[in-house]
Amino acid sequence: MLPTSISTRVIAAFGTVVTVVLLLLAAGWMVAGDVRHANQSVRLLSERLRVEDAQDRAQQQLRLAIGEVTRAAEQPRQVTPAQWTRVEQTLAAFRASYRAPAAAGPARDAAAIAFARLAANLIVDARAEPRQIAHDMPQFLAALRLLERERAEARRRLVDRIDAAVARSSRELYASISRIVFGVLGVLLLLLASFLWLRRQVLHPIVAIADQLRQFGTADGEMRVPGCDRADEIGDLARGLGEYRDAVEQRRRAERRIEFLAHHDMLTSLPNRLLFEERLAQDLARATRTGQRVAVFAIDLDDFKSVNDRFGHAGGDRALNHAAELLTGCVRSGDMVARLGGDEFAIIQVAPDQPRAAEALLMRIFRACDATAGDEVPVQMSVGVALSGADQAREELYNLADMAMYRAKSEGRHTARFFDEALKEETRLRWRLSRDLEGAVERGEMSLVYQPMADARTLRVIGYEALLRWRHPELGDVRPDQFIPLAESSGRIDSLGLWVAEQAMAAARGWPDHAIVALNLSPVQFRQADLAADLLALAERHGLAPERLEFEVTESATLLGHRRDAVLEALRALQDRGARIVMDDFGTGYSSLGNLRDFRFDKLKVDRSFVSAMLDHAPSASIVRSIAALGESLGVPVTAEGVETEEQLALLRRWGFPQVQGYLLGRPERLETVLRSAAYAGMIA
Ligand code: C2E
Ligand code: CA
Ligand code: CA
Repeated sequence: MLPTSISTRVIAAFGTVVTVVLLLLAAGWMVAGDVRHANQSVRLLSERLRVEDAQDRAQQQLRLAIGEVTRAAEQPRQVTPAQWTRVEQTLAAFRASYRAPAAAGPARDAAAIAFARLAANLIVDARAEPRQIAHDMPQFLAALRLLERERAEARRRLVDRIDAAVARSSRELYASISRIVFGVLGVLLLLLASFLWLRRQVLHPIVAIADQLRQFGTADGEMRVPGCDRADEIGDLARGLGEYRDAVEQRRRAERRIEFLAHHDMLTSLPNRLLFEERLAQDLARATRTGQRVAVFAIDLDDFKSVNDRFGHAGGDRALNHAAELLTGCVRSGDMVARLGGDEFAIIQVAPDQPRAAEALLMRIFRACDATAGDEVPVQMSVGVALSGADQAREELYNLADMAMYRAKSEGRHTARFFDEALKEETRLRWRLSRDLEGAVERGEMSLVYQPMADARTLRVIGYEALLRWRHPELGDVRPDQFIPLAESSGRIDSLGLWVAEQAMAAARGWPDHAIVALNLSPVQFRQADLAADLLALAERHGLAPERLEFEVTESATLLGHRRDAVLEALRALQDRGARIVMDDFGTGYSSLGNLRDFRFDKLKVDRSFVSAMLDHAPSASIVRSIAALGESLGVPVTAEGVETEEQLALLRRWGFPQVQGYLLGRPERLETVLRSAAYAGMIA
């Protein structure tokens, strides 16, 4: 153990106290002895004094008795025998008083013996011869005076001795008592000093450590346990606690990190979907109590995919971080910005003055976006906002915001849209259509129309594209743009698609052998592993050569995205058997050229939006023209859809389009109408 250890010091202090107490006890014991001794000598002297008194009395009585008998004998009067006996007894008592053990003093003894002897002579003479009395008396009186002088002297000395003894004893007592008092004071001081030392060296540090311990759970960052540089047990304790604290702190940090990772997005460090949903539930619950309204913003970056394609993953990450910073810079401290995944962000904003607060936030966001216009990658986003309210608090607020966001996207991107009554109505309609889609085929509400595809030069019909129609019993005709996505999201597109193929192939069976039938395939349908086999089997059942089939697919991200290999495999299976694969809506996708590299399409169909715009919109015109050139250089025929005017047709012809489709050539019609049409007759001829 260290020499300065607390236990050593405590033991030393304790030892000192015990020693001092023992010394005090010894001193007390000695004092008691002294006092006892002094008392004893005083008692002895007092005893002597008592003896003196007794001797005094005996002498007095003897003198009185002698005086009585001598006066009686001289008168002469008769002295009774009883008087003689009494005077002899008095003499005997006097002699006895000198024989007591405490009686001492040779001088007085001699004087007393002489006095007793003369007294005895006097008594004998007075009894025998009273006249002798006068002769004896002077001697007797002289002896008496001598004895009295001696006695007075002795008594004075005795009193002196008693006084001296008493004085000495009280002096000693005083000295001893003061020694004891000082000793006790010393012990008290020592105890006080020990206590103060203990308080300073042990209690204070322990209290300080306890204080620090109490902050364990709350304090952040570095924390020094006081006293850890001490060499004693407190130091040990402090160091031990410091190590323990470090371990706890480390663990807490690890836990916080895990907690953080579970609730945050790694790339942007923003809260993730989990945290977003937890917070939204809390805020909604609180808002109903406090009467505030929660605004949820669903945010989607515009053209993020093209950023990724152009700048790679790292560029995409930079863009996401940039957007995250931009949004974080726009919100107020109580709002939450979250990244829900991909290029989707969300904001929760709780405020009493909605929708004003939400509108203000939108203004800030778009102003911040506009400030990035000059950047290499400007931040652009589509935002949907939904507000909690009495009637929609129970609906999933985020889904509403998401719908509003999609609406914003479809309204031209880089804009915002609130979820409002119109959108609510639309949502209701979507839900209803989605529900009513079930069994629509069986109820006979579905039918096909056929739109001719023609040779651009001769305008002869070469085949028909089958397009699906739905006549809803109450809502009337529903556009495919409206219900196809619903069929896709509910999975009904699989059976619906096969039903369309079946109908179209059955119809095409009656057409001339060279007439083509074009079918639209939804990307979702490719999830069926045997789609190609099913389609080929259908064709075989209807006796259609696969060469008469064209399958139109859009180049949407889903189609040639993550399930790319499976999709390409199905397309190749169809192609291998002689069917043609057409890229529909060409030019609207993001990576058209990449798709062209990886798959040899048999035909490209320029999207009708370019065709309809090309006469008044120079960029659209150059896109159409470039696609024509591209097809020519790749050896892939290019077709244009949505041709409505002669001018459009003339231009397309000039640019070398071999095929065209559009209202100018023919609208989509029911089979009976098609079969009766002049165009159909022209095809047969
Ligand atoms: P799409 O494949 O691009 O079909 C062409 C659309 O353009 C058709 O609309 C057609 O009526 C319209 N159209 C044709 N010529 C003109 C024109 O000159 N001017 C204008 N303004 N429009 C013209 P529709 O029938 O409403 O179909 C819309 C979309 O629905 C189709 O686009 C296709 O993607 C999808 N679709 C239709 N039927 C089916 C189907 O059976 N299966 C699948 N998967 N999708 C289908
Ligand atoms: Ca099509
Ligand atoms: Ca199209």
